[in-house]
Amino acid sequence: MIDTVFTFGGDAPHSNARQKDKTVTGGKGANLAEMASIGLPVPPGFTIATEECLKYLREGGDFRTDLVSDIEEALRHVERTVGKGFGDANDPLLVSVRSGAAISMPGMMDTVLNLGLNDETVKGLAKVSGDERFAWDSYRRFIQMYADVVLGLDHGLFEEALEIAKEDNGFYADTEMSAEDWKRLVAEFKSIAEQELGEPFPQDPQAQLWGAIRAVFDSWDTERAKVYRRLNDIPHDMGTAVNVQAMVFGNMGDTSATGVAFTRDPSTGEKAYYGEWLVNAQGEDVVAGIRTPQYLTKARREAAGADKPSMEEAMPDAYGELARVFDLLERHYTDMQDIEFTVQQGKLWLLQTRNGKRTAKAALKMAVDMVGEGLIDEKTAICRVDPMALDQLLHPTLDPDAPRDVLTTGLPASPGAASGKIVLDADTAELWANRGEKVVLVRIETSPEDIHGMHAATGILTARGGMTSHAAVVARGMGRPCVSGASQVSISREDRTLTIGDRELKEGDVITIDGGNGQVIAGEVATIEPELAGDFGTLMEWADKHRRMAVRTNAETEADCKMARQFGAEGIGLCRTEHMFFDADRISAVRQMILADDETGRRAALDKLLPEQRKDFVAIFETMAGLPCTIRLLDPPLHEFLPHGDTEFEELAETTGVSIDKLRRRASELHEFNPMLGHRGCRLGITYPEIYEMQARAIFEAACEVAKTSGEAPVPEVMIPLVATRRELELLRALVDRVAREVFDASGTTLTYLVGTMIELPRAALMAGEIAEEAEFFSFGTNDLTQTTLGVSRDDAGRFLTEYVDKGIFARDPFVSLDVDGVGQLVELAAERGRKSRGDIKLGICGEHGGDPASIAFCEKTGLDYISASPYRVPIARLAAAQAALR
Ligand code: ADP
Ligand code: MG
Ligand code: MG
Repeated sequence: MIDTVFTFGGDAPHSNARQKDKTVTGGKGANLAEMASIGLPVPPGFTIATEECLKYLREGGDFRTDLVSDIEEALRHVERTVGKGFGDANDPLLVSVRSGAAISMPGMMDTVLNLGLNDETVKGLAKVSGDERFAWDSYRRFIQMYADVVLGLDHGLFEEALEIAKEDNGFYADTEMSAEDWKRLVAEFKSIAEQELGEPFPQDPQAQLWGAIRAVFDSWDTERAKVYRRLNDIPHDMGTAVNVQAMVFGNMGDTSATGVAFTRDPSTGEKAYYGEWLVNAQGEDVVAGIRTPQYLTKARREAAGADKPSMEEAMPDAYGELARVFDLLERHYTDMQDIEFTVQQGKLWLLQTRNGKRTAKAALKMAVDMVGEGLIDEKTAICRVDPMALDQLLHPTLDPDAPRDVLTTGLPASPGAASGKIVLDADTAELWANRGEKVVLVRIETSPEDIHGMHAATGILTARGGMTSHAAVVARGMGRPCVSGASQVSISREDRTLTIGDRELKEGDVITIDGGNGQVIAGEVATIEPELAGDFGTLMEWADKHRRMAVRTNAETEADCKMARQFGAEGIGLCRTEHMFFDADRISAVRQMILADDETGRRAALDKLLPEQRKDFVAIFETMAGLPCTIRLLDPPLHEFLPHGDTEFEELAETTGVSIDKLRRRASELHEFNPMLGHRGCRLGITYPEIYEMQARAIFEAACEVAKTSGEAPVPEVMIPLVATRRELELLRALVDRVAREVFDASGTTLTYLVGTMIELPRAALMAGEIAEEAEFFSFGTNDLTQTTLGVSRDDAGRFLTEYVDKGIFARDPFVSLDVDGVGQLVELAAERGRKSRGDIKLGICGEHGGDPASIAFCEKTGLDYISASPYRVPIARLAAAQAALR
């Protein structure tokens, strides 16, 4: 029988490898054991493995029989270590029951503190601690948490009772409540619970413990946990561990405290301790925003102009000890740590450590700094930065010189700037965002129920909560700018308005928040381009050194090409020529071509388009300065260019001199039932060769022109889309070669160029060996290949895809992350067959997947030569390609 219950602290062995495996004991449990094993002060406890959670959920809420005895034995370890008895009326052991999954899910699963208290043990606790107030404060906290987390009662009822008790006494803070006040409140809490439950609040510590364990297991399957996992690509089948741990008390008077700290600044990455703490407080007080926490260090306090003392000043000994632990843990884990601690009557205890969440900016800085400090090497640094997080750094920030109508300033909880319409709840945020609007979610304080709205918002503003509040932590994780604790903000939910000082704003008004300095600004503020040198440049340089695949971009405008080059693109992987046809002054020539009766009519229209298209390519070739450019000939169904509505038809009739009736007739002839599988791609080139001829001419004429004027000869790679058979490519390749010869002869210049195809139909993948005889390169068009392999239209998938992902049918949206098992096989097969028949065939990918790190890892494994992504994704692709090569 394998172990599923592991003890830690005291004389526990800590030698079982499974205990330090996060998938078994969860992040919290594994790290508690790790800290205890290196001699740090950790209150003793035990961890119940994730397997037990899965088993419990699978079996509809039943525990394994031996689990009960295993837990009893583990509990005995805790009792022995602290010298107290669980349920002992004279000197009770109290425990916390904490959840902990393998991947941290902040705020997703709730902790119960002070478990083991009842009407008898509370008296014992008062006696041994010599502090009645403390004992009753702990008891009321326990009832409150247990009622909420385990019994599922409305926590508002208890909060209200506490508010009333304070008001009656004229108190402002919880700390002003006396022992007698708490006693009265406990009585009231118990009667509220009894009223709601229809039975007394559970007094038996064993029943309390098992109830809490169940609650942790059950919390794995709550809606909010599922939403969080979905948003963060965490599998649903990991389960959570349970940690049961002896309590230490931060609420034992003025020599006791509790806090949260980071070994480096999680927003900026600066190497300075960073954190918040509260005197005479317990657990969640710091993050819940009930009292405003104080700064950990003197430097921070002074910088913020705060007057309540820092821990460094108020508890120099415990702080010194803490600082020593920070350094030790950072060296041990060779990464920035996020630490939870409690000081009980001057003695420091560690309750949690984990690799801290950080902004992209901080991740970059820490990775580069730690290499400089000799803590990690370049390869580790490359692997430490989440490629997707780079996105945060690549977007514009607020222009420091633009005028700002600052409404108020809160805490800079998550950097970056966001403008958008004010929305006051998460559902509205989601609704408006789905309509395509940018919204800033404004809340008193966020909670896990708001996650979907935070995700939909471009930024988050809260009136309460510190830098480690729920809003701040989640926003940083999601890369959303956030200003928290803007205490001047007050929200009226009935009127859907916001008051900030003497200014009133309505839901829907535009505001801007600056997560870098905490400012809340009326209206929209001008932005500036991001800084690509510094740490970003350094890490990218390292990444380039370690990656094998080239990184290109999908671009067709000069502006996009320029941007992509700034971001490090090494060529164009996909230039979609049809995008050039939508220009206002070109579309009528395009329509004229489509609606022409015959080839002569089409050629007349194409003659107008040729110089325009040539101009486009000149600009692209000049910008790309000798880098390879894959240009795809016309691909979409022609009807996409057709006029819509009466005015467009009227306009076209006027410019072409063809009657509206005739135009309409021709348009309806072009109607297709299933355009995605219709008259498109190379089928256009086969039936209307003059179209591809014009495009090929434009490409080669532009290339010759640029070769003459600039020093660097362009390298065009002409790509034929939607090929299914070798014969299609043979015909069209002959056409392209002929045009190339004509242009080279006429201009007296000869250039190297390639002709190749997209592999985007299953038949093309299967016949890749034959097709490669005609193709000098393959570019995997994985968008269409996914559609045609799965038989799913990307534009219609929205109706069922979420459910498919929720039900585990697809692990992820196959249009975002390549379906490696299915579509991936076709890619592998085509690559292999293509190479067999043409040894030097160039292989690349140009679908959206080229910017997705998981898909990039697959491309590396398959040995593709390059990946191609939209300009903003180029740095992501560079980093992901390096990580793929290193892993
Ligand atoms: P979360 O995962 O939400 O951070 P935790 O299990 O870490 O939840 O518990 C939240 C807080 O409760 C901790 O930061 C700590 O302050 C407090 N806490 C948990 N267990 C104990 C304990 N045994 N003694 C004292 N405080 C505890
Ligand atoms: Mg915690
Ligand atoms: Mg396609």
